[in-house]
Amino acid sequence: MTLFEKLMDKISGSLSNKINLGKEIHSLKALLKNGYWKRLEKLPPRKAFFNVIDVCNANCVFCPAQKLPSEGIMELPLYRKSIKELDEIGTKSINFSALYGEPLLDPHLFQRIEMASSHGFKTILTTNGIRLSENENVEKLIEKGIDKVNVSMPGFGEKSYAEIFRVDKKNYGKAISGIAKLLRYRGKVDCHLSIRYNSKIPELFQSPGFKHNILPLVNKNFIKENIHLSKKVDNWGGLISEEDLPEGMFLLKPPSLKPVPCKWTFSVAILPGGTVRLCPCRVAEQGKQDELTVGNIRETRLREIWYGKKTKELRRMFSTFDGRELPEACRDCSFYSPP
Ligand code: SF4
Ligand code: SF4
Repeated sequence: MTLFEKLMDKISGSLSNKINLGKEIHSLKALLKNGYWKRLEKLPPRKAFFNVIDVCNANCVFCPAQKLPSEGIMELPLYRKSIKELDEIGTKSINFSALYGEPLLDPHLFQRIEMASSHGFKTILTTNGIRLSENENVEKLIEKGIDKVNVSMPGFGEKSYAEIFRVDKKNYGKAISGIAKLLRYRGKVDCHLSIRYNSKIPELFQSPGFKHNILPLVNKNFIKENIHLSKKVDNWGGLISEEDLPEGMFLLKPPSLKPVPCKWTFSVAILPGGTVRLCPCRVAEQGKQDELTVGNIRETRLREIWYGKKTKELRRMFSTFDGRELPEACRDCSFYSPP
């Protein structure tokens, strides 16, 4: 089959999948300007994501955190070394939430934020919000210089916390009071709400929780720009299936074309033991120590890892059309996106 025939075959096969048509077109455009991504290889990691802790106080239906082994918490000396090397290489932003885990369970989180801020990095935290209202955590985040907080929620009600986050329903009250507190600091910190839900949209926004606790603190623009809604979730390479999801939630279909390296291979994840991994978003059955790992910052300087042979070779695996040779985590990943 010629390259053109393969392309047409893939396109016709994907036409029925309207959900991903946008991504297929995006992939084709990226292929047509193939070579663009090679320029990105000469740049430092776009973003660095730390998996500072990989345990969580929730058990979301769409997340494999509780199914995978824990590597513990990243020690501060290793974090300090990583920050220094990221600064030297030229990365500008640090995110404290790679793959899975709740960063507000990390006893060193505030020191880490302070250290990153003092190096001039933009600092970003994604949290499930359950611990936001405890121990003046919101105030400490602001004081240490966090720039952006993204709170993941399953909706505005006790039922969704029990059904989607699979935690005691009293955690809804804790999360909502933490979010309300955070929203009061909106001038100092950029706030986002990422809602993965299974109800109808009117029910979501007419719920007492939204109307009484959130709406008085935000404007229309915030609702439009800073609240992200989705009923669709990734399958984590088969670790999550339709059976795991409650009625009203769906699995995203992976795009059939992955002809150029995924944009996430241009960001770096650093794991608790110092493993450097190309993707901060997804793992599959092999877990975090998989084919996307490219070195360990304890043993090798980040600059050598990032511009090294293994990193380059991994990106080139995306030039196959059927995806068979891709790392396991990438094969059926719906998060694939061309750079
Ligand atoms: S809150 Fe995040 S890390 Fe925790 S189980 Fe849910 S998706 Fe996974
Ligand atoms: S295809 Fe998925 S697993 Fe692979 S690099 Fe992209 S986001 Fe990560």
